[in-house]
Amino acid sequence: MTWEFETDPEFQTELDWIDDFVRTEVEPVDMVIEHAWDMSDPLRQRLIPPLQARVRERGLWACHLGPALGGQGFGQVKLALMNEILGRSHSAPIVFGCHAPDSGNSEILAHYGSDLLKKTYLEPLLRQEIVSAYSMTEPRGGSDPTGFVTRAERDGDEWVINGEKWFSSHANFASFLILLAVTEPEAERHRRLSMFVVPAGTPGVEIVRNVGVYGHDPAHGTHSYVRYTNVRVPADHLLGGRGDGFIVAQTRLGGGRIHHAMRTVGLVKQALDMMCERVLSRSTQGELLARKQLVQAMIADSWIQLEQFRLLVLRTAWRIDKYNDYQRVRGDISAVKAAMPKVLHDVASRALQLHGSLGVSHEMPFASMVLESFHMGLADGATEVHQITLAREILKNHRGTDGVFPTTHLPLRRAEARDRFADVLAELGS
Ligand SMILES: Cc1cc2nc3c(=O)[nH]c(=O)nc-3n(C[C@H](O)[C@H](O)[C@H](O)COP(=O)(O)OP(=O)(O)OC[C@H]3O[C@@H](n4cnc5c(N)ncnc54)[C@H](O)[C@@H]3O)c2cc1C
Repeated sequence: MTWEFETDPEFQTELDWIDDFVRTEVEPVDMVIEHAWDMSDPLRQRLIPPLQARVRERGLWACHLGPALGGQGFGQVKLALMNEILGRSHSAPIVFGCHAPDSGNSEILAHYGSDLLKKTYLEPLLRQEIVSAYSMTEPRGGSDPTGFVTRAERDGDEWVINGEKWFSSHANFASFLILLAVTEPEAERHRRLSMFVVPAGTPGVEIVRNVGVYGHDPAHGTHSYVRYTNVRVPADHLLGGRGDGFIVAQTRLGGGRIHHAMRTVGLVKQALDMMCERVLSRSTQGELLARKQLVQAMIADSWIQLEQFRLLVLRTAWRIDKYNDYQRVRGDISAVKAAMPKVLHDVASRALQLHGSLGVSHEMPFASMVLESFHMGLADGATEVHQITLAREILKNHRGTDGVFPTTHLPLRRAEARDRFADVLAELGS
């Protein structure tokens, strides 16, 4: 038997170091910088690189990657335990070199990039000298990529790209974008798209505007609306084969989704910790909030939701390590993705409620956490789409019956049992 719910002591030492480092060194940086991805901000450039150097020294840099790419090859379970800590902080993922969307984009480049693309983009990305963006969603809808219309057409040794993309996060900071475009309009629905590297400075790449999300400063939006007008990229900037866009996208989306979930565990834990501190500090009608049974129900429900979700995330991480095949764990990842927004929403809402007026104010992070839960239900695919994927995976292991009644119909089962035990029943006169 190998069901284990313990962390080995050596790795626990690393987790303790990470916990202390994030609390004392990284979380304070969150309080003074605008955006950890903005390499043009001198304050960010002063504060973040020294922290990244300490993470490298400790041997904890880019833990989502294997050793060939400068990572540790820890696998997803260890990464999950680390990300639970990093999820508390805006800057921590970038300080540890495992932040989205670069983590997924580096996996795509590692798998499908030519030597030249690896040298030009992957290596500086892994050294965190640059950041990148992922440009897939279109203004007319992101849930159904088979409806995308952005075109890439071959012209001699180049591809010419025309179209618009929506919510390409951090394109305003990026040195290159990874873009999905239609190259095979006549092909079957899932073979029409191909993936490209587009250098951000290429003529014709225009950021129409950087869209902000509610709760953040609208003047500093980071989800770019990008227009591509006759953008020319060399032929070797195609990643994978023509029409392989869906296959290439899976390389990044499977990992990206579970990494978000791992960090969300950290955020939910933080909300629960804050809730507990508050109810043990605030009194009303002569007793602590913690003594009220309705409040106790909120604490208990939050803990149960968190632990259920955490176990699902860890089990999925374990299955990714075991099978090393994202296709095989598709349903598990969709389950995690579909569960994530509700857990964060519910626990953050209770934490907000228990902080009263302070809870809704700008002086506490709960309103942002509640909104973040909606981001979680959209980024990397809407919840409904993941519920559909999960249901389809589950149904593959079941089949219907031709009978009028279910195979579990009690009269039928009783009759079968009576047949089976007919001798005994007759002997005993039952
Ligand atoms: C914070 C954030 C960051 C993001 N970053 C990126 C990024 O870096 N790059 C990128 O390319 N995209 C990014 N996105 C976009 C994201 O991938 C899309 O929001 C998502 O795919 C949904 O597409 P949409 O917003 O166009 O919604 P639509 O496709 O218009 O869907 C709207 C709603 O319709 C419902 N719906 C959709 N399909 C179904 C269905 N089959 N059954 C039932 N109901 C359904 C769902 O409720 C869904 O929310 C980001 C989004 C957010 C919120």
